[in-house]
Amino acid sequence: MKKTLVCKIDKDNIDIKKIKEFAHILRNGGTVIFPTETVYGLGANALDEEASKKIYEAKGRPSDNPLIVHIADKEDINKLATNINERAKKVIDRFWPGPITIVLKKKDIVPSTTSGGLDTVAVRMPSHPIALRLIKESGVVVAAPSANISGRPSPTDEENVLEEMNGRVDGIILGGDCNVGLESTVLDLTGDIPMILRPGGVTLEDLNEVLGNVIIDPAILKKNKNIVAKAPGMKYTHYSPKASVYIVSGEKDNVINKINSLVNDGKERGQKIGVMCINENISKYKGEVIGLGEDLNEVAFNLFKVLREMDKRNVDVIYSETFENNGIGQAVMNRLTKAAGYKIIQA
Ligand code: AMP
Ligand code: MG
Repeated sequence: MKKTLVCKIDKDNIDIKKIKEFAHILRNGGTVIFPTETVYGLGANALDEEASKKIYEAKGRPSDNPLIVHIADKEDINKLATNINERAKKVIDRFWPGPITIVLKKKDIVPSTTSGGLDTVAVRMPSHPIALRLIKESGVVVAAPSANISGRPSPTDEENVLEEMNGRVDGIILGGDCNVGLESTVLDLTGDIPMILRPGGVTLEDLNEVLGNVIIDPAILKKNKNIVAKAPGMKYTHYSPKASVYIVSGEKDNVINKINSLVNDGKERGQKIGVMCINENISKYKGEVIGLGEDLNEVAFNLFKVLREMDKRNVDVIYSETFENNGIGQAVMNRLTKAAGYKIIQA
């Protein structure tokens, strides 16, 4: 167990003295967890091999899964990447600071511990005021994957981050809820056609508006051993609560009937069954029912938190409704499908 410095910081009234303490930890090769607008990140100096190794240790993350480098000044991308093409400039102008990461050819200065052994680097400028201030004060660029134990849902609130990570890192900044709730979009700009490697806060529709022809990596749409994911992390189990998750898909009424009959079957087996649904359907289900929100943005915001809540309620199995697979819904369905290990029941 490490001794972890834990502090609450108000994002609307940032205590610079406290930020400086955490910045000092980063500058000296330590690890700090901080809020971003997507999820909480587990940061260390991205250009310090020893520091970035500490991230993998704290998360128990496989070392071929690359890290995203967070910067507080758009210009800093020039230190990290080469071939910064027109498309990259358009994405940066339009969406930074914000929930989109771009992948470009890396410069030699980026250690292979940070790039997961690839010759590319993933870079993002977050918009969260605490993240920006911390990175600026640290004077280093900050590798920061989601602050969860590898394979678990990403933490999006103070309680979950503290429960999971206290004692595993040098510092934790508690800065309230992350308002997107899902990780950034990862966009590969090294090929002829821009490719989304991971759907996220910036949608395919948003990107098509700015870049025209954008495609989604076929490897993330379905489980297929023959397609190798370009984003290495995508091959690992992800976002998994302790319970087995199943997605139930079909016409609305059929889904409701199917889930209720599955809940009954489970109860007969003596299991505790969780149900995740859109709020308007809460009263239609039996079991441990948790509403994910009124609309897709709320579902994105709540998904990881609810998966973790199901763990706290000790449910054995979770059945989830399906959500519209467009806009932010693509990111929702991507995370949910992975949490379910691709188990989908047709109603
Ligand atoms: P996390 O920081 O936990 O959100 O995970 C970072 C994810 O970004 C990885 O799992 C990869 O999917 C993706 N990523 C990071 N760097 C690269 C890269 N150089 N090329 C492709 N994907 C990347
Ligand atoms: Mg992650």
